[in-house]
Amino acid sequence: MKRIHRRALAVSLIAALILGLTALYVTRQALDGGQWAGFPSNGDAFVSGRIRAGTVKDRDGEILYAVRDGEGSWAEDETTRIASLHLIGDRAGFIGSGALFNYAGEILGYDPVNGLYSRDGQGGVLNLSVDADAQRAAWEALDGRRGAVIVTDYITGEIICMVSSPSFDPEDPPEIAAGDTSGVYLNRPLSAAYTPGSIFKLVTLAAAIENLDDLFERDFHCSGSAQIGGGKVTCGRAHGDMKIEDALAESCNCTFAALAVELGGEKLREYAGRFGLTSRQTVDDMRTAAGRFDVGEAGSLNLGWSGAGQYHDLVNPAAMARFVAAIAGRGDTPRLTLRRDYTRLGVTSDHIMAAATAEKLGEIMEYAVARTYGADNFPGLKLHAKSGTAEVGTEKPNAWFVGYIEDPRHPYAFAVCVENAGSGASQAGKVANAVLQACTQ
Ligand SMILES: [Zn+2]
Repeated sequence: MKRIHRRALAVSLIAALILGLTALYVTRQALDGGQWAGFPSNGDAFVSGRIRAGTVKDRDGEILYAVRDGEGSWAEDETTRIASLHLIGDRAGFIGSGALFNYAGEILGYDPVNGLYSRDGQGGVLNLSVDADAQRAAWEALDGRRGAVIVTDYITGEIICMVSSPSFDPEDPPEIAAGDTSGVYLNRPLSAAYTPGSIFKLVTLAAAIENLDDLFERDFHCSGSAQIGGGKVTCGRAHGDMKIEDALAESCNCTFAALAVELGGEKLREYAGRFGLTSRQTVDDMRTAAGRFDVGEAGSLNLGWSGAGQYHDLVNPAAMARFVAAIAGRGDTPRLTLRRDYTRLGVTSDHIMAAATAEKLGEIMEYAVARTYGADNFPGLKLHAKSGTAEVGTEKPNAWFVGYIEDPRHPYAFAVCVENAGSGASQAGKVANAVLQACTQ
């Protein structure tokens, strides 16, 4: 009797263990099955490391990549292929940001109930959020220069455009030398961090709005240079007397360096952190490069320059777009995604800025367009923007232009950086206009 009882107990224990492991497996399969199925060693899904079936489309259904009879091919149009290389991926698999790697399960047609249900058929369809017209416009506007272009929907978080240069045609890849330093495989919008220059003044301005009660009553004066911490901060010219709105529109280094010293390094670091500019942000399962904000000594020249976006400051373009999206969104900024309609069931947003601060920043950015950048240069766009011309050593400065447009049908925020291009407003501003025109067609 005793023995039978013991056996029954042992059997129950084994049964419980099997049930537990099955439950664990089912849960893990539901959560991670797409990734397992999309793992390149899965022979049902991949042939020689290439996806066996499936199609990748842009937001309007234009084909960016398709597998037919086991052969994968990129878009028919050469410019589309080059402009979307970092978005889709290359044949050799060197580009880690590509959809062929990061969304393999969806391209193959994986779903948690049926698994790889169409392994003999056409595979799945991955609908990306990007607009191929905007991709082409961005690539053409960069005109061979290196840089990053990203446009996001500040309501849904969908990425509308993501272009990295240099690039190449994935159907005709060039020989790339082992010692190549161009970073051709790097997806700059997600994986680069650049000196921001004056676009960082938006961060300093946000901190000033929230911490200096009399900011909008103050009179500022610029004689072209200012003594700070035993050194000199300079402007391109003497800006004269001005209010804070003009100081931003004219991008006065003297004013912003003085504000940075008054606010203090810890305060600026806190704001850069709160705005997500020094940490890694997420785009689906990918992570962006982190930016950097080093605090110069209290009262020092370095602290002054860091508040004007120089010194050791670095920002990532996607994180910058997410930050300006918060200005457009009254402090709310949605999580970024490359999947079309992924957010239709609900958008996950982060609240990173007080609504009143966002509104004030937005007004001043609109004023900067009217006063400095010229609304005529952005026909038909209700634009709010800030330029940056970031000194990066001996070469020409990096040109930045960031902001957003007020347009209920196209609620888009953007960040454009053109490396060694010169003036932010004229060089990166032109690229931003070309891309926004294509996005709003
Ligand atoms: Zn000045």
